[in-house]
Amino acid sequence: MERQIITCPEEQVGRGIADFCEEGKYQRGRSLIHKYPDRAVILATNQCFQYCRFCFRSNLWLEKPWKIGSEDLRQIVRYLRKHFEIKEIIISGGDPLTLTNQELFKLIKVVNLFQQLKLGRLASRALSFCPDRVDSGLVRILKQSHNRIWFISHFNHPGELNSGARQGIKRLFEAGIPILNQTVLLKGINNRVKTLLSLFRELAGLGVKPYYLFQCDPVPGAAYFATDLIASLKIYEKLNRYSGIIVPRFAFELPGYGKVSPGAGWRIKRGERNYLVVSPSGERYSYPRND
Ligand code: SF4
Repeated sequence: MERQIITCPEEQVGRGIADFCEEGKYQRGRSLIHKYPDRAVILATNQCFQYCRFCFRSNLWLEKPWKIGSEDLRQIVRYLRKHFEIKEIIISGGDPLTLTNQELFKLIKVVNLFQQLKLGRLASRALSFCPDRVDSGLVRILKQSHNRIWFISHFNHPGELNSGARQGIKRLFEAGIPILNQTVLLKGINNRVKTLLSLFRELAGLGVKPYYLFQCDPVPGAAYFATDLIASLKIYEKLNRYSGIIVPRFAFELPGYGKVSPGAGWRIKRGERNYLVVSPSGERYSYPRND
């Protein structure tokens, strides 16, 4: 479990594809990414409580530490005024909860200016790394937001659900803040059906809905954590036989397309070095093999 945050020699091997999720193409200023039509991501900071070695945004660590400022917020307001198709904001980073409550309040106030935004997500690993950060001040800010804010936790292993994390979850629930969890499938950490089921059951038992199981993106320094796509799909096929309450959606990032939850119509064929992924409408994409 600790391997998620401890550096190791495999990071130096040099495999991996920079900006695998192609966010650079969709970045509108330092703090906004508009990749999908109905939603946009606000990058609140490039700082985190701990730095997960598999992070698909690890390129942000190369920058000097920064937090969202007034000029970034003005730029976001200008952009949202012109883009009514955006109905949902995802506050992410870095970890947005490394901001103070006051800084976060200012950010949520901006999001609340827009009638078209019906909901927001706050994606944070604070419940895993710093559960005391989920304090009464934060809970009040989330509760008072006009737009419903969903808290997106990120637990990868049942061992992360310690008493601090459970207390944090309880504080959010008592305030009526809904919680969804995302998990990254990580070789050597949680790529066993038994481990994942145990995590998902524990979460659902605490009232947290397992929402997404993501394929680990093979970014530079993290490719050693990525399971092969076909191996991931086999794991998911086994998971999918269990209760819909505990099983999240599986998704992988397909360069040139975006997030895919394979289902009816998608075809994946093994090529010599890559997988050929064919969409239901016949478009062809390539995905790196890692077996
Ligand atoms: S906390 Fe989130 S943003 Fe920060 S390193 Fe971990 S996965 Fe990346």
